[in-house]
Amino acid sequence: MSIVTEDPIVNLDVFEKYESEVRGYSRSFPTVFTKTKGYKLWDTNDNEYIDFFAGAGTLNYGHNNEAMKKLLIEYIENDFITHSLDMATEARGNFLRKFNEIILEPRQLDYKIMFPGPTGTNAVESALKLARKVKKRTNIMSFTNAFHGMTIGSLAITGNASKRAGAGIPLTNSVSMPFDQYISTQASLELIEKYLADDSSGVDLPAAIILETVQGEGGINAASKEWLQGIEKIARKFDILLIVDDIQAGCGRTGTFFSFEYAGIKPDIVTLSKSLGGYGLPMAITLFNRDLDIWEPGEHNGTFRGNNLAFIAATEALSYWENDDFSNDIDKNAQLMHDFTAKVVKEYPALNAESRGRGMMQGVACHVDGIAEEICAEAFERGLLMETSGPKDEVFKFLPPLIIDEAGLKTGFAIIEDSIEAVLEKR
Ligand SMILES: *Cc1c(COP(=O)(O)O)cnc(C)c1O
Repeated sequence: MSIVTEDPIVNLDVFEKYESEVRGYSRSFPTVFTKTKGYKLWDTNDNEYIDFFAGAGTLNYGHNNEAMKKLLIEYIENDFITHSLDMATEARGNFLRKFNEIILEPRQLDYKIMFPGPTGTNAVESALKLARKVKKRTNIMSFTNAFHGMTIGSLAITGNASKRAGAGIPLTNSVSMPFDQYISTQASLELIEKYLADDSSGVDLPAAIILETVQGEGGINAASKEWLQGIEKIARKFDILLIVDDIQAGCGRTGTFFSFEYAGIKPDIVTLSKSLGGYGLPMAITLFNRDLDIWEPGEHNGTFRGNNLAFIAATEALSYWENDDFSNDIDKNAQLMHDFTAKVVKEYPALNAESRGRGMMQGVACHVDGIAEEICAEAFERGLLMETSGPKDEVFKFLPPLIIDEAGLKTGFAIIEDSIEAVLEKR
């Protein structure tokens, strides 16, 4: 089924002819998509795909979520406000109130809520600006394999060399340290503490330390509780702000609303985007301790901070967090994913693989050049969307919508096993 009848788009010609070479996912998933629901998509040739990709973690509540869709249609039908910069609207007010009631208060987090521009990287930029303004220091500490977005400030704290090179200018005022298992939990913590304590280490005291609790683009490296707690301790000891970039790992991806809850830490600043807008609509927020709110009015602004359609869907999405049912479902799915990754590692020694991740953010790292990409390409041919992650694209990564059921996961797993077998046979 397609949206136009007279001159349907049936292949990639128009994209190859008119769209910039910068396009990425239409190359990894080379078809024209048309419909979607829950954890499935269909293309113009009526091929069905299981989604283990979820818009890179933007569709935690599934595609075209029915409850959100109804509210959006009603909102549009009634000519309620769509665009409003940061003017006060009912939709924005309802989101603020409900986010406070359902998410912040029960977790004893007294954060102020800021609306930056509606992308993850803009939330990160706002977090960096605020940290530098509060601490009156320029340096930011980040980690190996970190990914924080594609604007200059975010690239300066991102690990990947080819993404960094895209900046075209020197990336400054940041220092990269080894993430948890990059060396070992203890070695990482000791090194960071030693560098900060030593006046001759060459590392200027940073305004903030920024981290992902599970590195989404950097290889599904899940930080241990011990490491996260150790980093928090170091931040407190040296009067450094702790920023958790929860853009991909947040909004329930690891089982709790915030990914850092499991370590019992309280970051000073948190960035959220991706699944925050619920329906895949652009939205981001930056949360910070009340006493950090030293912004001047309009000091960080942006045209699309008032995406009221996103507020409507985001507010509805919070209903999933009114009790523990959704969290429990995520834990069950996470266990199935864990069992499956363990099985792959054990049954396919030729992949030289190890399992990675936490919650519904898991993957299999293959230490055989290029094989994870081949498995993803093969899986696409067999009806599964799945992407790679990691510095050498060595991880095939499972990021299905959180609302997927056991049948959906099992169908996906079967396609992955068939794909692994097919790839191993071809090699
Ligand atoms: C996706 C992502 C970003 C960037 O978000 P955009 O909306 O693409 O700018 C930043 N940090 C993390 C951890 C992400 O996964």
